[in-house]
Amino acid sequence: MAYLGNSARTREVLERHHMSAKKKFGQNFLIDSSVLEGIVEAADVTKQDFVLEIGPGIGTLTQYLAEAARAVVAVEIDTSLLPVLDDTLSEYGNVTVINKDVLKVDIGELAREYNGGEPIKVVANLPYYITTPIIMKLFESGAPIESITVMVQQEVAQRMAAEPGNKDYGSLSLAVSFYSEARQVMEVPPSSFIPQPQVASAVVNLKRYDKPRVMVGDEKYLFEIIRTSFNQRRKTIANSISNNPHLGVSREQVQNALIKMGIDERARGEILSLEQFSELSDILQSNGAMLN
Ligand code: SAM
Repeated sequence: MAYLGNSARTREVLERHHMSAKKKFGQNFLIDSSVLEGIVEAADVTKQDFVLEIGPGIGTLTQYLAEAARAVVAVEIDTSLLPVLDDTLSEYGNVTVINKDVLKVDIGELAREYNGGEPIKVVANLPYYITTPIIMKLFESGAPIESITVMVQQEVAQRMAAEPGNKDYGSLSLAVSFYSEARQVMEVPPSSFIPQPQVASAVVNLKRYDKPRVMVGDEKYLFEIIRTSFNQRRKTIANSISNNPHLGVSREQVQNALIKMGIDERARGEILSLEQFSELSDILQSNGAMLN
């Protein structure tokens, strides 16, 4: 089987299997070999590596990964693609396809079962309708993930890299900077896919820190504060946080914590840095607040 990374072979495989891309699963198949090579290079995949691919589709990126890696496990939700993957990956003995919704997969368990709990690299052309839940799940899973190299919408790549005060700054920016060093690898035009997406895409590489960038007493509490602060961007942090019953704090307690930190009590989430959110989380918890 020749590499799939061009439009003629991709169309041929789809026709032979009487398949077309399914919008509901965010299927946009890569047809650009230079982008495919660029992804594998950015992920720095070597013969020592175990790669988790999310959404192999018809196996295009999977072929490149199978060539470069020691082993690949590819998790695909769409059952109708299994016969296609059997066909396109028949020459690769180092690929295992798992037919599951990745959001329901225990990533730590997968790493234990297939890689003895050793570090794994995640590489994917992500389905755009669930990019953020997948990234958050990977980070929060506690699984030994060394790096995440993914194709996302350009707009999501901007949110990942945004700094406080920027309109794109939010929970995703904070999660990415808490867990990893982010690097945008390349921009990718709609013409690199079949069917073409509406918007431009980008490949990003997230290299996970050994330890999170800031020390905080309770990560879960911190991220609940962060999510809450950006749920209603126009509300003050004190209002948002005190309106969330799970956080167990009053508006005055939040305002007092902000004043103690030298921040305006009417501040909104968009101005707080990761360090400041962590400090706020620790102050509220030292006053007895906890997740409920
Ligand atoms: N990797 C292929 C490529 O680059 O040509 C396909 C990428 S396509 C953008 C996204 C893939 O993710 C599709 O194959 C889709 O069926 C799959 N997918 C969508 N939702 C998923 C989920 N929840 N769990 C696992 N795979 C999913």
